[in-house]
Amino acid sequence: MARVGLVYDPLYLEHDTDGHPENAERLRAIMALLEESGLRSSLTPIAADDATQADLELVHQPEMIRWVRGRIEAGDTALDMDTAVSARSYEAALRAAGGCLRATDAVLAGEVDSAFCLVRPPGHHATPGHAMGFCLFNNVAIAARHAIARRGLERVAIVDFDVHHGNGTQEAFYSDPSVLYLSTHESPLYPGTGTWREAGTGSGLGFTVNVPLPMNSGDQEYRRAFEVVLLPALRRFRPELVLVSAGFDGHFTDPLAWMCLSCAGYRELTLMLRQAAEELCGGRLVFSLEGGYDLTAQAWSVRSCLDVLLGNPFASDPHGAAPPSNSPDVEPLLAVIRGLHRLGSSS
Ligand SMILES: [Zn+2]
Repeated sequence: MARVGLVYDPLYLEHDTDGHPENAERLRAIMALLEESGLRSSLTPIAADDATQADLELVHQPEMIRWVRGRIEAGDTALDMDTAVSARSYEAALRAAGGCLRATDAVLAGEVDSAFCLVRPPGHHATPGHAMGFCLFNNVAIAARHAIARRGLERVAIVDFDVHHGNGTQEAFYSDPSVLYLSTHESPLYPGTGTWREAGTGSGLGFTVNVPLPMNSGDQEYRRAFEVVLLPALRRFRPELVLVSAGFDGHFTDPLAWMCLSCAGYRELTLMLRQAAEELCGGRLVFSLEGGYDLTAQAWSVRSCLDVLLGNPFASDPHGAAPPSNSPDVEPLLAVIRGLHRLGSSS
């Protein structure tokens, strides 16, 4: 049986954003489902510790870190129009980033085969210079830099299937050929970045791959995006570790987006990632929670990913399949992206 690590810490609930869509009930719903289903007992707990200043500075500017801390200490309740904070948010954010670091270390040390970090606040919108979009520090980006700077890896891939573009992660690695950033996201949608033409710069050119999908894209369109763009790019890059910005706001019930993924669809994407990771890097996968705002859908979607990592069969979820909709034809877009990234002709 696969050994799958789980990062969770009650401190994550103390990032208290009551009334905001990104609130502590999300993690409570996920943990309740893991308990009820008995899944929690088959996961290996990984203790999160706190990211240090040096850890944060792997990605973030010292002034930005000081600013975030100062605003929270001053008692502010929001860092911008979208990003709520409370008295304990800074501590929670340090432990969220620290959780991803420990999960990455546990996977790299072979203590577990793969891991899932149930952390908040999420991270993928946080840029080197700004906290934004519900995110304080970029948990996954910090883990990627850590793996390269301190664990000797040469190539780390980040797959971001959150429904929003991970502008912060893209910015952190835009000129860096050691990190391949692959994103599927709804377009147009917040934060407005991630056009297919954004492909990196300087020596990082070609190491950012964006697949901006139209609204109503569902299981089938995401599967095709993975099959014809993300997986071929991943195989060409030959990562030594795959980090996943796992947001579940592409689910058809999500209140913040207009996509049509189902839990079965998330299962399929995770199966493809697991297979690619097994083929390329000994199965070394670290998932980290980003968005997902329908409490039931995000909990069951996390469960379907964990079931894949554990090798369990699919457990049918309460929402089931997406209702029929006008599925967009994404093939022309995927062909253009394959052309830009020289992935050969579409099959
Ligand atoms: Zn999102």
